[in-house]
Amino acid sequence: MKRRTGQDKSITANWRPATLAVRGGTARSEWGETSEALFLTSGYAYDCAEDAAARFAGEQQGMTYSRLQNPTVEMLEKRIALLEGAEACRATATGMAAMTAALLCQLSQGDHVVAAKAAFGSCRWLTDTLFPRFGIEVTTIHAHDTDAWEKAVRPNTKVFFFETPANPTMDLVDLEAVCGIAKKHGITSVVDNAFATPSLQRPMDYGADVVAYSATKMMDGQGRVLAGAICGTEKFITETLLPFHRNTGPTLSPFNAWVVLKGLETLDLRIRRQSESALKVATFLEGRLPKVLYPGLASHPQHALAAKQMVAAGPIFSIYTGGGRKEAHGLLNGLNLIDISNNIGDSRSLMTHPASTTHYGMAAEARLEVGITEDMLRLNVGLEDVDDLIEDLDRALTGIGL
Ligand SMILES: *Cc1c(COP(=O)(O)O)cnc(C)c1O
Repeated sequence: MKRRTGQDKSITANWRPATLAVRGGTARSEWGETSEALFLTSGYAYDCAEDAAARFAGEQQGMTYSRLQNPTVEMLEKRIALLEGAEACRATATGMAAMTAALLCQLSQGDHVVAAKAAFGSCRWLTDTLFPRFGIEVTTIHAHDTDAWEKAVRPNTKVFFFETPANPTMDLVDLEAVCGIAKKHGITSVVDNAFATPSLQRPMDYGADVVAYSATKMMDGQGRVLAGAICGTEKFITETLLPFHRNTGPTLSPFNAWVVLKGLETLDLRIRRQSESALKVATFLEGRLPKVLYPGLASHPQHALAAKQMVAAGPIFSIYTGGGRKEAHGLLNGLNLIDISNNIGDSRSLMTHPASTTHYGMAAEARLEVGITEDMLRLNVGLEDVDDLIEDLDRALTGIGL
């Protein structure tokens, strides 16, 4: 008899998140390896021609081609689904592949989407540039304003799309209220949960239909690989997403899936420690700067909502130096420890100037509309000693006279 491996629902149903993060979805091979095996294979061989035919006909269980299935990728999909409390999950090559597939798989010409204005730059490119080219109408709104969602609904509205907290303005969306509006109108809510991860926030607990990830960020968590994931009901993943995913091919590499599996084992530890350090760094910076936007601080306009729907506020926040690009770039250039880098979710502390990097591609008015000004910087707080981070920031701030 096979030893329990984390795939049997009758066993995993009672496991708590920390156990699922280490063991959920594990499928051991005949060798009984403890760490998940890495199946770097594009194809699969069959014992006979009839088996091949039966697998293609869906009459026999088994894999046919790694664009469609791979054992290592499947372990990751099962683990993420278990952590999310979702019926099913499909992994993708990047976070943007996840967002694109989660949306396009269910949209057609003539449909209408309501989307948040404050969003990752490439998500705004999807809603502002790509979708209109295919006759998909989009209304972008200030997503923290719950009434704006209700007002934007039209008879042909198919999808609500937003992230919370949003990149890089740290706007929050009231998950329960907005997913409730979507449900009432038969609209599918698609939530980009990259900043929080299932460790800090599970949107489905508040009624979200689809949760999509950039696993590049906190899930890998060590700045190594690009990856993404889409969670939903079994019906959504199998009937709506899979035909799109299998035929267009935004498939995750087994190697990257393996790296993210290892990352998930420590996700909860990392994100809690990084959130703790972020709160200390944000508190220090609040005493030195005109504005700090971190949902974990009492000064954040949606602090109460953060406390309601998030376990902690995460490792990422934004700061305003006052002045303009000169001051912001000056602060970056004065750092010795914290890297100038536009990635987030890394175990290293990183800082970037969104207006000239991640959100450079956005129209200048669109940037200003959501508060991405020339003096704004975004900080990812890593796993270094928090006192070293504060000393580095202290020195850089003194260097620009703050
Ligand atoms: C990084 C990010 C993405 C895109 O993910 P990639 O893995 O870089 O493709 C999408 N949404 C949010 C909120 C992100 O932070």
